[in-house]
Amino acid sequence: MVKNKGCKICSQFSNKEYAYQKHGWEDRNSYISGDTDQLTLIKDFNTTYSSRLLQILQCPECKAYFLYRTDYEYCVAGSEDEQFLIQLSDEKVKKYLKSKVTKLQALKYFEEDR
Ligand SMILES: [Zn+2]
Repeated sequence: MVKNKGCKICSQFSNKEYAYQKHGWEDRNSYISGDTDQLTLIKDFNTTYSSRLLQILQCPECKAYFLYRTDYEYCVAGSEDEQFLIQLSDEKVKKYLKSKVTKLQALKYFEEDR
C-alpha cells in the first residue's frame, strides 16, 4: 500500500497502478484509480516533447514520490495507451535526482521495481 494511507491525494492510488486503453474497445479499457494531475512534477526525463512520458511525481500533501510512465502505440485497428504509476522510496528518488540518471537507466529501475 501507499506510504500514507491517510493522505487524501495519494491514498487513491495503489502502490502499483497499471491502466490500458484501446480506442474502439472502450468496454475493455482500464484507468488509473486516481488523478495524477494532482501530483507535482519533480523531474521530467524527456528533454523534448514526446507522447511517451517518464516523470517523477510527488504528492504535494504527504511528499510521497511516484514514477509515472506512459506508452502509446499507434495501431490501425485502434491505438493503444498505457500508463504505469509506482511508488518510489525516498532513497531511490534521492539517487535519481543526485546522480544524473538517464532516461534509459530510469526505465530500467522501473522494470526492476515491477
Ligand atoms: Zn500523499
